[in-house]
Amino acid sequence: MEYESVIGLEIHVELATKSKMFCKCSTVFGEAPNTQTCPVCLGLPGSLPVANEKAVEYVIKSGLALGCDINLYSLFHRKNYFYPDMPKDYQISQYDQPLCINGLIDLDMGDYQTRIGITRIHLEEDTGKLIHVGGAGRIAGAEYSLVDFNRAGVPLMEIVSEPDIRTPEEAKAYAQKLRAILQSLGVSDVSMEKGSMRVDANVSIRPKGSAEFGTKAELKNLNSFRSLQRALAYEIERQTKALNEGRPEDIVQETRHWDEAKGITSTLRTKEYAHDYRYFPDPDLVPMEFTSDYVEYLRAQLPELPDERKQRFMREYGLPVHEANLLTESKAMGDFFEETVKLYKGDPKAVANWMLGDMSYYLNTEGLEIDETAVTPKHLAELLKLMDKGVISGKIAKEIFPEMFETGKLPQVIVEEKGMTQISNEEEIAKIIDLVLEENASTVEEYRAGKDKAFGFLVGQAMRLTKGRGNPQLINRLLREKLQE
Ligand code: ADP
Ligand code: ZN
Ligand code: MG
Repeated sequence: MEYESVIGLEIHVELATKSKMFCKCSTVFGEAPNTQTCPVCLGLPGSLPVANEKAVEYVIKSGLALGCDINLYSLFHRKNYFYPDMPKDYQISQYDQPLCINGLIDLDMGDYQTRIGITRIHLEEDTGKLIHVGGAGRIAGAEYSLVDFNRAGVPLMEIVSEPDIRTPEEAKAYAQKLRAILQSLGVSDVSMEKGSMRVDANVSIRPKGSAEFGTKAELKNLNSFRSLQRALAYEIERQTKALNEGRPEDIVQETRHWDEAKGITSTLRTKEYAHDYRYFPDPDLVPMEFTSDYVEYLRAQLPELPDERKQRFMREYGLPVHEANLLTESKAMGDFFEETVKLYKGDPKAVANWMLGDMSYYLNTEGLEIDETAVTPKHLAELLKLMDKGVISGKIAKEIFPEMFETGKLPQVIVEEKGMTQISNEEEIAKIIDLVLEENASTVEEYRAGKDKAFGFLVGQAMRLTKGRGNPQLINRLLREKLQE
């Protein structure tokens, strides 16, 4: 039987407001435990929450950027459950009247385009953080647990997709595109590694062509785009095997934990249902009403979004669609590109080629984002200028790149320190070519007998003797001249 997978993502994003969702406490990350708390976010009796206007604005802006309808009447509900990371025994969240509904994200998958629906975006508060001590750092096997309420009450936006995603690759592309959109809005730093963007992936399988959905599992602990893709691929494989091997009982509605090191998912808990939470409107908070003027006022403030930027990159810099797509995958990548083009003043395609070639290679191997490295647009622009001026060859530039990447030294500094400047002195190159011709008499014969390939070999030999520093154009010209003598 052939199966197809059905995936829907629930993505939590911490909003970059200065203060928490319902109190004045700071949201700054990394302070001493429990120093950023007050009676409101500790849930002390008698304290009253007041909604953070900026957070509401951020969610509506996100909704507009994602093509949502904005509910002009919206309210907060209490989601009741007990867990030690939540001092009130309920989380203030939204239920049947969230701020935004009916959005979408268009994905360009290279070979095809697809549209993923967004069911809703709602605003809620984050929980505190539990630190499990002893064992493997997970609750199972821990000796005791500590709780830090600094994060409790930080504004959290939840973006729920329709089950429109069909492959792990689409899931990754969706999450990346969402991140790029939120980055351009500046509403969050949207980092999966730092936990300000947390992706839960719901996945089920069904016979290809079937209209009904299968039973889904929800995957948690996905700390990077790579783990999102890997965890989904594993889970799809697990469910497919269960059905093919006649064990449908292995697929139940549950939450499963992704183990990055082992590369497997395992049962965390069987899934709660909405009625377990006894949602009811929070009587401490007034409902929110917006005018359409207010919504249009926010819409007018939207910046250039990744799709628009991609179109502009194609138009303004003559980039092919694939390159434009990759360069707008994150805000930092697009900013780096444009900044470099401005400093370099040369061919934007050369900038794109370096960024998507050598640079992306190093970023991927080191697992870094472009703004987490020592390399700046100035570095890349200077490197390209050195090549254009003939100071270094493309080959030397490739050698310099990793060092520039690691140390943050400017390319001309590395070139000088290592004596890597290109040899463009005609006399010097001529001597080397004489040597090459002498040492490779038989190849010279072959060339004269009409074997064109021999020429390339001779160029290679001259390059080798100059340790890659010979000016390739000069070598080519002098070699041709000498061979014609
Ligand atoms: P729950 O009640 O478990 O929270 P929801 O219907 O609210 O489920 O959906 C939560 C997420 O799971 C959404 O992103 C949705 O698209 C996705 N989803 C729902 N049903 C399925 C399914 N059968 N397979 C995969 N994903 C699903
Ligand atoms: Zn507080
Ligand atoms: Mg739900």
